[in-house]
Amino acid sequence: MAEHRVVCTDQVPLDEPTSHAHIVVVGTGADPDHATGHWTLAGVISSIGAGNVFYTISPSTGKKATVRVVPCSACGHQIIKSSADAVTDNNLDSLRRCN
Ligand SMILES: [Zn+2]
Repeated sequence: MAEHRVVCTDQVPLDEPTSHAHIVVVGTGADPDHATGHWTLAGVISSIGAGNVFYTISPSTGKKATVRVVPCSACGHQIIKSSADAVTDNNLDSLRRCN
């Protein structure tokens, strides 16, 4: 079992409205400015299913938030989201884009 800190994401809008976006790639690594690993959404979901942990860290508070696999409320596909205890700056959606 391994833990991976998520430091960036890439998202694509899949449907209308354009506010409906999915994370399709995450970058992981110890340095928030430099991802050393890149994972597809399917790779993250299968790794979490195998018992590994993905998380984010708030730059302002150091608070850790776990990444969860949930069904998208708009389309029902499996997506990844920050757990409900995430604060603004450790939410997956607040991370920088990978590229
Ligand atoms: Zn969706």
